[in-house]
Amino acid sequence: MSTAAARAVRPLHFDLPPLPYAEDALAPVISAETLELHHGKHHKKYIDTMNQLLEKEHVQGTTLEDVVRSSKGKLFNNAAQAWNHDFYWKSLSPKSAAPSGALKQRLERDFGSYEKFVEKFATAAIGQFGSGWAWLIDKNGKLEVVATSNADTPMARGDRCLLTLDVWEHAYYVDYRNQREKYVQGVIEKRLNWEFAERNLNGR
Ligand code: MN
Repeated sequence: MSTAAARAVRPLHFDLPPLPYAEDALAPVISAETLELHHGKHHKKYIDTMNQLLEKEHVQGTTLEDVVRSSKGKLFNNAAQAWNHDFYWKSLSPKSAAPSGALKQRLERDFGSYEKFVEKFATAAIGQFGSGWAWLIDKNGKLEVVATSNADTPMARGDRCLLTLDVWEHAYYVDYRNQREKYVQGVIEKRLNWEFAERNLNGR
């Protein structure tokens, strides 16, 4: 193969996905200023850095999930953060409806009650030391709450993610300063997208 032909193999490239709602749609729980920075600067930077790294590093597969699952180091960190943020925006909703139907039953079966789930999810989010994420996952048919550090994501290990909450300081510092617990409580009470969680539970 000539050098020109080799160069013609285009590296993987991903675009910043748009927010699924307006920047001011999550206020007052998450302000437009936070969303503008968090999506327009932080999320974008992860995507831009990943794209730069993909110009030199080859990975198995073509999807963002493939990149996360077949990379390590700096590429993993940026690809996982790109995926985590897209999943986080979808985990939030301007108007939060309580979990219902099959998902409500699963929460009651695996945590005892919706309230016990809330307690566990809040504790994981507030208690995560340093930067990271709190997750509701379906692990081998059982719902679990887990926390991950930095860019780490249960998706990398093949666990089915239902919802996530970003607890990096950039997610709440503009609105709540150091009071992570106020951000966590506000999102859990008013902004979780349970319809998204239910679609994930059903594998759609
Ligand atoms: Mn973030």
